Amino acid sequence: MTKTKAIENCTSCNVRLVEAGFTRFPCPTCGETIARCVKCRKQAIRYICPNCGYEGP
Ligand SMILES: [Zn+2]
Ligand SMILES: [Zn+2]
Repeated sequence: MTKTKAIENCTSCNVRLVEAGFTRFPCPTCGETIARCVKCRKQAIRYICPNCGYEGP
């Protein structure tokens, strides 16, 4: 069984992404996958890329 790197927690608040509506997208600078929950999307909480430290809205 191969371990794939799947982000299961919100990058901003670290909540588990169990609800529908969360989003995953690549970091604009390094391409690392960033995940955000519905709450953080609605409140426009900024994220910090775990790989390169990029901050975005
Ligand atoms: Zn969140
Ligand atoms: Zn990055």
